[in-house]
This record gives sequence, C-alpha cells and structure tokens, in this order.
Amino acid sequence: MRFGNINGRLSLIDGAKALDVEKASDGRFAPDPGLVFERWEEFLAWGQRQTLDDAVPFTPESVGPPVVRPAQVFGIGLNYQAHASESGIQEAVPAPAVFTKFVTSITGPYSRVTLPSDTVDWEVELVVVIGRHAKDVRTEDAWSHVAGLTVGQDLSERTIQLSGPVPQFSLGKSYPGFAPIGPAVVTVDEFADPDDLALSCDLDGEILQDGRTRDLTRSVPELIAYLSSIVPLLPGDLIFTGTPAGVGMARRPQRFLTPGATLNSRVEGIGTMSNTFVSG
Ligand code: ZN
Repeated sequence: MRFGNINGRLSLIDGAKALDVEKASDGRFAPDPGLVFERWEEFLAWGQRQTLDDAVPFTPESVGPPVVRPAQVFGIGLNYQAHASESGIQEAVPAPAVFTKFVTSITGPYSRVTLPSDTVDWEVELVVVIGRHAKDVRTEDAWSHVAGLTVGQDLSERTIQLSGPVPQFSLGKSYPGFAPIGPAVVTVDEFADPDDLALSCDLDGEILQDGRTRDLTRSVPELIAYLSSIVPLLPGDLIFTGTPAGVGMARRPQRFLTPGATLNSRVEGIGTMSNTFVSG
C-alpha cells in the first residue's frame, strides 16, 4: 500500500493517480493525513482491501508531505562508513549519532526551499515511518513497528551545524523546508528486501550520491532497537536513517546548493522527490 497527502488530504496512491480516503471510506477515516497514525492498524487493513479503481490523476503541485506533524523526528549521523570517512571519521562510531530535525522543517516532495546561506548541503536518506508504539523493541521485532518507508532529504546548513565548541546539528538541519519527505509512504510488505534499497540523488541530472541501504552501519531494526531502548517511538514518528557518501561539504572543492538548482532524490520502490531552491 502506498499512501500520501494530495491537496492536504489523506490519499491512497497508485502511480500518478490517487484515491481520497475520506470519500472512499464514506467518512470512516478523516481527511487529515496527520490523524492516520491514531488508527494505523485499522487504516492498514482497510487500505489493503482497496482496488483504487476510482483513483483520479493528481499533479505534482498538489502533493504535500505524507507525514505532516510527527511527534518526534530522529536523524542519524554518520551511518554509512563511506560517509563517515569522507567526514574525516575513520574509526567505528560506538553508538548511533542522533539529532532531531524540528517538525517545522518538514515540507513536500516537490516543494521550493529557501536557502538561508550559501553553505546548504544535500543528504538523500531512507526515512522510516513508525506505525506502532515502540519501547524496548528487539531487532527481530523492529520491522513490525514500521508503518512504511519514504524518501527524505536531510538538508543541512553546514556553517550553523558545525559552529561553536558544540556542533548544532539539530538547528543547522531545521530551517523551514529542510526536511522534504515523500512522495508517498510505502508499507514494508511492498519491498522484496526492505534492508537493501538503492538510494541516490542528483543535482540537475548530475549524480551526487548513489548507495544502498544494506551499507547502513546500523540497520533500520538496529536503529529502532537502540532508539526505543531510550525513547518511546510513537506512531507517525520519523527516523532519517543517515546519508551515503557524496555530500557537498566533503568534496574538493566543496559544493553547495545554489538558487535555481533542482535536487532529485530517490529510493528504490518508493519514488523520486524533486526540490528546487531559491535565495533567501
Ligand atoms: Zn543526515
């Protein structure tokens, strides 16, 4: 099942067509995409029975973020060894490096993002959407707590992120629009192997990052087990699982996003986001 946010309304998605959930369910489910996780199991059972025969075409402009107000958004740093190495960290990271992206940074998969400076970087990531309350979850049970997967960009203002005696990851990664997600959430059963998905991003067609999630230092189940040993994970929460090598900061010379550029970000089996940039 694929679901998302079309014109602010919860929708099942099939290619370029969408089925409005509130209408198709005769009002059983609210149109607000933010309410779906309160009744996740019921919605999942209903959604998987739908045929989408009555789905109608939608435009990219009508697509909003599939998760609109998660209670918590986790970001994981340095979770691919090749990216840790390009960031100057050769030794194994002893525990996941965790930060938050504040929820006001969430935006849609085709949105235009304002650049607050000339040092904003790209990070394509697989994003996990939690479906069931998770506390002290074992790795072998972790996937059953996931509602689905989506594509994310962990846009990062590197000057703020790395400034001062204590880096400010959460602020540097939380300007408005710095967390594009979408274009849809895809449930775990749709993937032959959810632990091995290709992900990549390109800037105006030039491939910048190209990796596979099997190379995550901490896999999705390991991240859920680790985070839930400390913090309860709530339905609708997001986990940005980390970015593969190829960020702009690590390039010589360094490269960053510029006004007018289009950043395309994709994960196998989910889809492609296309975000454009304007100067602040
Ligand atoms: Zn990241």
